[in-house]
Amino acid sequence: MCGIVGYIGYKEAFPVLMNGLRRLEYRGYDSAGCALISQDGKLNVYKAKGKVADLEQEALGQDVSGTLGMSHTRWATHGEPSAVNAHPHISQSGRLALVHNGIIENYVSIRESLIKKGYEFKSETDTEVLVQLIEYIKNTYRTSLLKAVRIALTKVIGAYAIVVVDQDHPHEMVAARKSSPLVIGIGEENKEFFLASDATPIMEYTRKVVYVNDEEVVLMKRGEEIKIVNLANDNVNPEIQQIEADMGVVEKDGYPHFMLKEIFSQPDCVRECMRGRILAKEKRIVLSAIVNHKELLVNASRIIIVACGTSWHAGLIGKQLIEQMCRIPVDVEYASEFRYRNPVINKGDVVIAISQSGETADTLAAIGLARSMGATVFGIVNAVGSSIARATDTGTYIHVGPEIGVASTKAFTGQVTVLTLFALALGREKGTLSREEYEEIVAELYQIPDKMQKVLESASHIEELSKPYTYVRNFIYLGRGFNYPVALEGALKLKEISYIHAEGYPAAEMKHGPIALIDSEMPVVCIALHHQLYQKVLSNIQEVKARNGKIIALVTEGDDTVSKIADSVITIPATLSCLSPLLSCIPLQLLAYYVAVRRGLNVDQPRNLAKSVTVE
Ligand code: GLU
Repeated sequence: MCGIVGYIGYKEAFPVLMNGLRRLEYRGYDSAGCALISQDGKLNVYKAKGKVADLEQEALGQDVSGTLGMSHTRWATHGEPSAVNAHPHISQSGRLALVHNGIIENYVSIRESLIKKGYEFKSETDTEVLVQLIEYIKNTYRTSLLKAVRIALTKVIGAYAIVVVDQDHPHEMVAARKSSPLVIGIGEENKEFFLASDATPIMEYTRKVVYVNDEEVVLMKRGEEIKIVNLANDNVNPEIQQIEADMGVVEKDGYPHFMLKEIFSQPDCVRECMRGRILAKEKRIVLSAIVNHKELLVNASRIIIVACGTSWHAGLIGKQLIEQMCRIPVDVEYASEFRYRNPVINKGDVVIAISQSGETADTLAAIGLARSMGATVFGIVNAVGSSIARATDTGTYIHVGPEIGVASTKAFTGQVTVLTLFALALGREKGTLSREEYEEIVAELYQIPDKMQKVLESASHIEELSKPYTYVRNFIYLGRGFNYPVALEGALKLKEISYIHAEGYPAAEMKHGPIALIDSEMPVVCIALHHQLYQKVLSNIQEVKARNGKIIALVTEGDDTVSKIADSVITIPATLSCLSPLLSCIPLQLLAYYVAVRRGLNVDQPRNLAKSVTVE
């Protein structure tokens, strides 16, 4: 998920690699490493936990000479961030080195078969199997590096951008990609090649680039033209493009802010999160944490979700999912409150801790308390190897990649996706969810990324309709059932980045107080989807209308009732009620975003907020 930089040419590679990694720092990472082949043909590898500066410190005073090298910033998915798990990984003989971005899903079976052949593994990563497999193929079939890489990749399931170097072939470098980005920069005619995860590190040297396509393997050799083959070994003509964009735009893939990029990345992120966990053909879910702790989870008498902020909102959706599908009572607690109460925890209780960064201080403390009282703790975390990931008994990563915008968007949908997978898998295990219902929800969940994409198509409509609300002072968000937590989350997004006071309520609760606030100045966002509470929400909308409130309604495609009452309408594709938060949250993220942008605010780094709240 993070950054790769490579160079082969006539310049010293090390400065190119370090400059490049620094340019990729925005992607977020936890460790870094590099490999160089020195003038006397030695493969030198340096790795460090932490930042690029830590890597430079590690390499200080060591041999960093050489005109061929590659480097990597890791965002751990398998195995905690550490120097051993950092890339490059080295083959058994010590002659091959490899860096990888992505996830190898079938690494366990490849690893087992290589262990049987005498290979030893040093790291906990999924990546290490690649370098050993390539070496095994290269030695067994006495093939070139290019061929060994190509054959190895036919055996791999998952996502990758890789670069491989071989000490015995100091004039060549091989790279390949599938689902993870990779760009090659062509420097001086056949004399040098650059390579990176995006064009940012390349642009200061050359504007001539080749975007590598999925399942293509590239050979870069000094003095020769770049050669590309696909996995079936057909030659592919490299399509050389000229890039014009400036650096900032490239980092954000052309989006003006990371937040917008992250909002738009949600279909892909949810796909990534479900990858290997939904077996679409069999309409089945496999969550290893549930398989491994089946007994305990099936027999849990109560579940307590602890979280803060956006994660707490995801927890409220999780409560409804788990209660509905697993018939286990669920409490959702603010971690900061839970830790200082004297909560009742009984043996057999399960605590689910949710945190994007995995470093949230209050959640970490709540986990400590729960465990000391005998609960089993299940983590739902984005950052692999983070404190919470280590402090929990088991858990499931959301795998949505680093989130850079301070206001959480893709981590929220990732958390809700994992909670849905959890409830479905456990409900089926327990037998509280019928097979028909289970299969229907699994099949629909699988369609959600495509439906998210459709919701995103209304971005310009949302931008337009938000205009009159740029300078209002207050907002109310109303929703019911699964969409009540979405109302809370929508209000939080607006508060966080536009500094407009906003409140989310269960729609029916409005008449118990907040209705007093409604007048012609008050915008009210109403989530009114075609589910069992639709008629009830409709009545709540009428109550707002009767007091001249301005209504922005979120409706299901084809709804023509609400549009007659509301001032503006945003439509989303029909889906099951329990999955609707994954769609309905997106227009609210966009609404907050466009209002904040128009107010001229720093959307990615709103005032007073930090991305990871490591203080209580
Ligand atoms: N899955 C690999 C690991 O955990 C690569 C992660 C990345 O893309 O940085 O080491």
